[in-house]
Amino acid sequence: MKRIMWKTSLHYCETYQEEELRAALSQAIEDLGGFAPYIDPGDRVLLKVNLLLSKGADSAATTHPAFVRELAKLLIEYGAKVVIGDSPGGLFNEEILRRNYRVNGMIQAAEESGASLNYNTGSRTISLPEGKLLKQLTQTAMLGDVDKVISVSKLKTHSMMTFTGAVKNMFGTVPGTKKAEYHFSMPDSDDFADALIDICLAAKPVLAFMDGIIGMEGNGPSGGTPRRINAVLASDNPFALDAVACHIIGLERPAVFTWQHAWQRGLAPDRFEEVEVTGEPVERFLCPDFRMPDHINPELTSDYGVIVQKLSHTLRPKVRFQKDKCIGCQACLRNCPAHAIRMQGKFPKADYHKCIRCYCCQELCPKTAIRIEESLIMKLVNRL
Ligand code: SF4
Ligand code: SF4
Repeated sequence: MKRIMWKTSLHYCETYQEEELRAALSQAIEDLGGFAPYIDPGDRVLLKVNLLLSKGADSAATTHPAFVRELAKLLIEYGAKVVIGDSPGGLFNEEILRRNYRVNGMIQAAEESGASLNYNTGSRTISLPEGKLLKQLTQTAMLGDVDKVISVSKLKTHSMMTFTGAVKNMFGTVPGTKKAEYHFSMPDSDDFADALIDICLAAKPVLAFMDGIIGMEGNGPSGGTPRRINAVLASDNPFALDAVACHIIGLERPAVFTWQHAWQRGLAPDRFEEVEVTGEPVERFLCPDFRMPDHINPELTSDYGVIVQKLSHTLRPKVRFQKDKCIGCQACLRNCPAHAIRMQGKFPKADYHKCIRCYCCQELCPKTAIRIEESLIMKLVNRL
């Protein structure tokens, strides 16, 4: 088998100010040999950003608009035509996209850089004979409007998958509510990881950039807290990039579903040390105290993984709705792929027999009103 050369560029950047960001991104692109090996002048290039839900840049839940703006400017100066797009969680229509772009700062980022915003909310189905889990895939039609795709992700923790970066970012190439169907048909995190890898490979990102200047720790991808890391990462391989980002926040392969499964498929390195890192030394960025989600999938954290799987319904964590924060908007109910949530008076309630522990409800709650509570037995097991 041909040996993959894993490379990632890593640069220090303390702020989202234009000059500093531009310098860090320019150095990263130079490390990768410029845009020329990946993109031709005149190409239409999709910056597949992470827009998750309508939250301002300060929340650190989405790719920062200044990061997107500066990257778009550099691509346009090179001669590319840039489109900014994502299919965030929930419904995927023009009105919702417009609001999301406005709140997340993408309208301004597009205006200031000369990029355009995607409003194509159509979909297309492709066959994936090489897919491990998915042999057929529904993608957003915006992929058909461009020549090249770049993953522009945010460095964050993820309650279901532990970590979300360059690879998981490509889940946003699946249109709106179709994502919920994929969650429902693949409730197991191992299957879901393989599906995410299939989805990423199908989108064929030629480059991956990560906004790790201020990432998210704790209950990501939306309910965590911003955490300064000061890192700009870039690679021609999203798996290599994620390995470096994970190492920075104290995660190694066995703890990260997408990394583990990509490694089993020969797509990712075994250890971060196999990635050639150019730019700044990784040691400058290490965050040994980076907070993980309150709950991490029990099969990962426990030495008793097989027992945990067998008793999964009893031992798996439960979603808890915090009444003091909940505004009764029903976003959780609308986005629950298992239809496990109903309203009881003004507040939501979950049916734990139906719940598949995908945590889409927590991800898409605008008020961070959902906690994931570990079962008492798992708390005890994890202390053994
Ligand atoms: S999404 Fe959040 S705020 Fe809205 S009803 Fe559900 S728990 Fe309450
Ligand atoms: S209740 Fe929440 S965690 Fe459970 S299936 Fe619905 S969205 Fe997923």
